[in-house]
Amino acid sequence: MRRLLHTYTSSMMSTPVPFSDISTLPLLYKLRKLTPQAAPAHPPSAPHNAKIALVRHDITQLRVSAIVNAANSSLLGGGGVDGAIHRAAGPDLVKECRTLDGCDTGDAKITSAYDLPCDKVVHAVGPVYHSDKPERSEQLLRGCYRKSLELAVGNGCKSIAFSAISTGIYGYPSDDAAEAAISEVRNFLDEGHGEGLEAVVFCNFLEKDERAYQEYLPMYFPPAEETAMKPASEETASEMKGTGGESAPETLADKLPDAPITVPSEEGLPDAKKVKLDEADDMPAASPRKVTVEDVPDEELKPKV
Ligand code: ADP
Repeated sequence: MRRLLHTYTSSMMSTPVPFSDISTLPLLYKLRKLTPQAAPAHPPSAPHNAKIALVRHDITQLRVSAIVNAANSSLLGGGGVDGAIHRAAGPDLVKECRTLDGCDTGDAKITSAYDLPCDKVVHAVGPVYHSDKPERSEQLLRGCYRKSLELAVGNGCKSIAFSAISTGIYGYPSDDAAEAAISEVRNFLDEGHGEGLEAVVFCNFLEKDERAYQEYLPMYFPPAEETAMKPASEETASEMKGTGGESAPETLADKLPDAPITVPSEEGLPDAKKVKLDEADDMPAASPRKVTVEDVPDEELKPKV
């Protein structure tokens, strides 16, 4: 499928981004945004790879069937991506959320999306990360991805975009969270549950999370096309054009979406995200705190050219 890649400038950050503008794995391998691993954990699958996409963007701007919110167990809104989603959806979202009676950690519920460009919002409640019980944290995080995918398929969604659940205020290490997320999606697809899904997008906001996905995607979704394994010198621009009419890789790379340059503000919403109601909350939090613009290294604040 041909991908039309826009150059996103800060003034376009409020323009909804359709899935067709987001790079899927075959293109990311061609652009060498992903590096094949010597010993991947799973065999290559071209059909899977065509569905998996990675983008660094404000998830509230993605025009996909469903976006996945990193919610808290009250489902009544909070900080981080939860706050951004509630702000962009408008007040009707919290009204519907009030009817849902909260949600357990490791589980998810689905609502309409109101003023958002997507059709549905899946509210997944990730675990607060506890370094003394990493297996339990992983089990709960995997549960979020599994249940979100089931809800998306069950509601006829063709595309779903995940935020990096638990990697913000809840303190889950980016690498471990990315591996659990990618592995759970791979299992779901391998089990044949994703037939109705055309796209699964991993949407990150910070570079640390994007880097983690760049590291682990090749382990679970290795390249299926031979050209992706060739050294750069062997791959010609004409080979690239032959893949669907795109321009040369250097040009395409330049046109990939710019990284966000700020963390969305959280004015008007409760500052503390988390009221934890389930058994996972007995454990002490691993210094959860809100990500602020001060956490972003200087070089990340510079728009990419
Ligand atoms: P949690 O409490 O589950 O950690 P957070 O909202 O604090 O939830 O963070 C989850 C992830 O969402 C983090 O990786 C954070 O960088 C990211 N994030 C924050 N705002 C946005 C946004 N507007 N779009 C996409 N991702 C976002």
